[in-house]
Amino acid sequence: MICNEKMYALGAKRSVIRELFEYGKMRKAAVGEENVFDFSLGNPSVPAPAEVKDTLIDLLSTESPVAIHGYTSAQGDKGTRDVIAKHYEEEFGFALDSDLMYMTCGAAASLTITLNAIVKDPTDEVIAFAPFFPEYRVFAEKAGAKLVVCPPADGLELNVEAFRALLNKNTRAVIINSPNNPSGVVYPEEQVKAIAAALMHAEDDFGTTIYLISDEPYRALVFDGKKATCFPKYYDDTVVCYSYSKSLSLPGERIGYIAVSPLASEKQELYLAVCGAGRALGYVCAPALFQRLVKECDGLTADVNVYRENRDILYSALTEMGFTCAYPSGAFYLFVKAPSGDGNEFSEEAKKYDILVVPSDSFGCEGYVRIAYCVSTDLIRRSLPAFRALAAKYFR
Ligand code: PLP
Repeated sequence: MICNEKMYALGAKRSVIRELFEYGKMRKAAVGEENVFDFSLGNPSVPAPAEVKDTLIDLLSTESPVAIHGYTSAQGDKGTRDVIAKHYEEEFGFALDSDLMYMTCGAAASLTITLNAIVKDPTDEVIAFAPFFPEYRVFAEKAGAKLVVCPPADGLELNVEAFRALLNKNTRAVIINSPNNPSGVVYPEEQVKAIAAALMHAEDDFGTTIYLISDEPYRALVFDGKKATCFPKYYDDTVVCYSYSKSLSLPGERIGYIAVSPLASEKQELYLAVCGAGRALGYVCAPALFQRLVKECDGLTADVNVYRENRDILYSALTEMGFTCAYPSGAFYLFVKAPSGDGNEFSEEAKKYDILVVPSDSFGCEGYVRIAYCVSTDLIRRSLPAFRALAAKYFR
């Protein structure tokens, strides 16, 4: 093969999620859009806040073309970074430094840039807590590291014991994601503290620096009066990877940021490595128009009440039918146990009822399916008879 075999393999084989999404498109063409209950993709159904459209119109009508369509600094517009840092401090009481921030094309870019900035040796390991976003494996391996999976504790929470046992002199980074895709779980503060303590001990024991990469696309989507975690408060060597894809319902616009904690070891070197990785990966200068939009709209959130209502309807209906799943307090996913213990079998069986749910193997956790309930509440309600028929196959 004349091209890169690893890249060919990634391109030739679609992710399970994309595979199911494409199947859904085919099925909708065959039986009608309204007859397919497509829970495959985390594409927000709730529109962006009204201010987003107003701000875009205003920017397009009043700003010069070069101000909204031209190149910005490689690390992003300073005014935008200042606003983000100010809001973060207002929300969490923790001061970020806008000179340690880098505007990106969403969380995927934030993660790949950060991992490429951190990983240096082929023996480097990156730990991810299962269940996790499947692309972590692709991103960590492309950066040259080995992805090590930490199994979950009961309730799909953080397994602190298992985590401690995985830390070693080769551990370079740990990726954490709360609220979590695919479980919707918001990790309890006590567990986050215990993870931070384990990391501090490991740094002392091994004489190394281990960065905690906090992947936060769902930070704004929390329910039940819970608050999202401010990870840099618990652990100094933290890098926040944020995205507006879900908080502002703008996944197609590709906008987010990286913030190296001002308390991180070798923060200046790490930040310059972030700038270097952004450059090497061709990610300089995130979309200018959306950087300007973020300057005006950071801090706003799409209407999370819709997701909460969807969660309430689906969680109570499915558990009442006999299914089990961890209680999700954030994001817009339910991670349901396959009654047969086989997530692939369950996903295939669900297809017979035109319910599209993603089997869990690629999330680093076998025996579940993921339901992305970021669809209309009407679709959720209309899907319940199909779920009931599916449940009848397993529970008598
Ligand atoms: N991380 C997690 C946990 C996600 O769920 C997603 C997208 O669904 C991403 C990262 C990538 O986000 P973005 O679309 O902002 O690149």
